[in-house]
Amino acid sequence: MIDRFREVYGSAEGVRVFRAPGRVNLIGEHTDYNLGFVMPVALDLACYIAVAPSADGKLRMYSEHRDEMREWDAARIGAELPAHQWTDYPVGVAQELIREGFFVEPANLSIRSTVPEGSGLSSSAALEVSGALAFLNGRELEPLKLARLCQRAERNFVGMPCGIMDQYISVFGRENSAVEIDCRSLEHRDVQLPAGITFLAANTMVKHALAGSAYKERVAECAAAVEGIRQQIPEVASLRDVSVAQFESVANRLPEVVRRRARHVVTEDDRVERFVDASERGDLALMGKLLVESHRSLQYDYEVSCEELDFLVDTALGIEGVLGARMTGGGFGGCTVTMLRPDAVSGFSQEITGAYERKYGLKPTVYSCKPSSGAGEVKNFEKIPPQA
Ligand code: ADP
Ligand code: MG
Repeated sequence: MIDRFREVYGSAEGVRVFRAPGRVNLIGEHTDYNLGFVMPVALDLACYIAVAPSADGKLRMYSEHRDEMREWDAARIGAELPAHQWTDYPVGVAQELIREGFFVEPANLSIRSTVPEGSGLSSSAALEVSGALAFLNGRELEPLKLARLCQRAERNFVGMPCGIMDQYISVFGRENSAVEIDCRSLEHRDVQLPAGITFLAANTMVKHALAGSAYKERVAECAAAVEGIRQQIPEVASLRDVSVAQFESVANRLPEVVRRRARHVVTEDDRVERFVDASERGDLALMGKLLVESHRSLQYDYEVSCEELDFLVDTALGIEGVLGARMTGGGFGGCTVTMLRPDAVSGFSQEITGAYERKYGLKPTVYSCKPSSGAGEVKNFEKIPPQA
């Protein structure tokens, strides 16, 4: 990566490298922007940014994956408007840093990422968080502030009304642990996953055009549900405040679609709590069952799944050693996550790949979901993997 930096910029003097991971969400989907609960794992797939000061007042960003270079006057980065391309993520972050009182220094950046783009493993948050660390280049910023600032960049500059999960887990990921996040209090706890199981992500290799617009539509439908429920229970400020029993008592007063959206979110929050509990007790069967319930709820009530995701889930559930499976991330393509016994991994990978290829003519990439650490500086450059 340093060699590449030198090729692109002529010199790699004073270069430092920052890393931020992607994530797989085990359970708690579309609950973060409703201020509820999520339980992601930081992956060892990550975005790496090499950075060194530039002498000519410019800010440059090079993406290895895209083999594309962009440049700006560093002094004017705060006035830049969204360009509707990949640079919006780091430029949005730079603007939020300025708003936070930091000076964004002239610098050359080279970006390498092993997180597949647009696959629901959050390449965007990995890019934002590693971008923030690269711009800071060693200056301190409290971890929670870092996560929130990157979320604001995606909301304000990219225009995606996302919750806090992706940026939070990229910052707070823990080796060997899943992390349960309370998206209202912004507190978390590390959750030990039981022995005797492992998680794999399988990529549909598709992203339907609907993904962005439907996400915004769901955010609006959840707001409508809150409005409707407040007519009966005035203290409700978000769907997070609604218990399953409360929901059932008001459900028939909500319009049909809004009712199903709310039912997903309310029952999903409940499933996260039960999943954490089952995980701590080592109840593998219940964990698997909750994953499947989560998928069905996303499929029928929230309607953010798609044919390819359903196929991967349904096929997985028929494979020896699989305990549960669901779509993960925003939906309309991207990845599923499957919980299975470690000795079933190679059989699963073969079977799911064969079945998917026969049906869709696409080879689904399968990723290990070994929990890895959150964002930080990389001191040992040997550990940086090649650009896929
Ligand atoms: P996800 O976060 O699930 O991967 P998003 O649509 O939220 O999907 O973010 C994907 C976008 O992030 C890409 O379309 C691209 O704009 C940007 N991105 C991610 N990684 C890179 C990279 N290595 N180089 C350039 N842009 C990237
Ligand atoms: Mg994203």
